[in-house]
Amino acid sequence: MRLRRIMQHRLIWFRDDLRVTDNAAVSAALDCDPNTRISAVFLTAESDWASFGYGPNRLYYTQQLLTHLSTSLASLGICLTVIRLKTYHDQVAWIGQFCATECVSDLYFNQEYQWNERLRDRQIRDHAGSVTVHAFVDRVLLQPSTVLTGDERFYSVFSPFKRRWLSIYQDQGVRPFALPHRSRAPMEPNQWSSLCDRPDSDLSQFPMTEEDAQRALEDFVTHRLGHYDRTRNQPDVSGTSRLSGALARGLLSPRQCIQAAEDQIQRPIWEFPDNAFSWINELIWRDFYQHLLVGFPRLSKNRAFRTETEALVWRNLPAEIDAWKAGRTGIPIVDAGMRELKATGWMHNRVRMIVAQFLTKNLLCDWRIGEAHFMQFLVDSDLGANNGGWQWSASTGTDAAPYFRVFNPVSQSETHDPQANYISHWIPELLTIPVKKRHAPWSGSIPQGYTAPIVDLKTSRQRAIDAFKDLKS
Ligand SMILES: Cc1cc2nc3c(=O)[nH]c(=O)nc-3n(C[C@H](O)[C@H](O)[C@H](O)COP(=O)(O)OP(=O)(O)OC[C@H]3O[C@@H](n4cnc5c(N)ncnc54)[C@H](O)[C@@H]3O)c2cc1C
Repeated sequence: MRLRRIMQHRLIWFRDDLRVTDNAAVSAALDCDPNTRISAVFLTAESDWASFGYGPNRLYYTQQLLTHLSTSLASLGICLTVIRLKTYHDQVAWIGQFCATECVSDLYFNQEYQWNERLRDRQIRDHAGSVTVHAFVDRVLLQPSTVLTGDERFYSVFSPFKRRWLSIYQDQGVRPFALPHRSRAPMEPNQWSSLCDRPDSDLSQFPMTEEDAQRALEDFVTHRLGHYDRTRNQPDVSGTSRLSGALARGLLSPRQCIQAAEDQIQRPIWEFPDNAFSWINELIWRDFYQHLLVGFPRLSKNRAFRTETEALVWRNLPAEIDAWKAGRTGIPIVDAGMRELKATGWMHNRVRMIVAQFLTKNLLCDWRIGEAHFMQFLVDSDLGANNGGWQWSASTGTDAAPYFRVFNPVSQSETHDPQANYISHWIPELLTIPVKKRHAPWSGSIPQGYTAPIVDLKTSRQRAIDAFKDLKS
């Protein structure tokens, strides 16, 4: 028995969970005799970056978080190795080989829910041999397949999902994982060749360390959580947490978010006032989209949730798509959002919905084109949330906006950016015209340097409605 304990070697396999605190796999792996050898690895494959559509923003951010993680782990006497493989499929072989040559007894990782990742983890288990595999629920608050309908199916509509989610959460409670004390001599962090030296955008708004993320969370719950519901739809106000990058890459956990919110409000979430609960609601949406990936594998395979919408004939005009991507459609709120995305690697949620509806409805372009573009630029890019957001906007997904309810980008702009602060910031060309005219500059003379709308909003709206109406449900 003593011999086995001395020989134990635990391997932590990091994915999009790049933190030490409140990390289920890390907490479990560190819960051991101080003499136990612990190693850590992060695997990536360049060929995936293209096939999954990851761009320099995500890769650069990941690189920064890995550097910080490596230092944190080194202070615990754990060496993080970052391995670049040829292809995604080499991961299973690499883990098998490492476990064999380094006599790994136990493998620890947190579950991922995309189809490929679930297949990979199944293969890992199937080929584990003498290695004990420990897989944890960490990315979500409640495990997919525990929030089911009365007849044991996955929910496909958010409101009943949320009711069930809340009742389970209330029974079960979810708390951050403690980090066991580990007294080992610190070591020098490992070096590896950078995943990406330069992002496409200025990523300075994103927390780069766990301490930064905790500070940003604290700042949000102290100053903005209490009036989140009132300000969350205003893109010119910093009313939301802007923690999505940290949550997507796992620098922060959703449990830490809930804990901080409960500490601030001094009540459990089910007793939160509406204003603050609406932020928790977004974290439940986040869970919902991960659960959907498990319940409906076609979502990971580029397929529509509502399969009948796959018969839609999209226009997909390259010149219009280019104008949309470049923020040159002539519709200010759309252009402002697309410019914000390019400049910062992030876009406000309200504006994400507006630009997504404009692309899929007014331009009648396939939602997959928008999904891929977001995937390339967003620091918070995440298959579940991105696919969910795009399919919602395109009326092809769960809970989708009914096809006949097409956002009017001008009234959206007037409602959510009444002083035109947001559009004026991103489109300085508008500064020469009165504030009231900036939402629809074509109603007067279009300012120099700006563009006439590439599409008529009224007729293009009707074209989209007609296209959807023709589908057989
Ligand atoms: C077309 C489209 C694409 C999107 N793509 C992504 C994506 O790739 N990655 C991503 O994390 N979010 C995505 N979202 C959801 C949402 O826009 C962002 O999570 C949000 O804008 C992040 O800002 P925040 O951190 O200030 O959010 P907050 O309002 O502070 O919300 C807190 C957290 O809840 C989660 N969240 C909030 N709204 C949603 C939502 N609608 N769906 C799922 N989770 C949510 C995020 O993790 C967010 O950080 C998308 C939405 C749309 C309409």
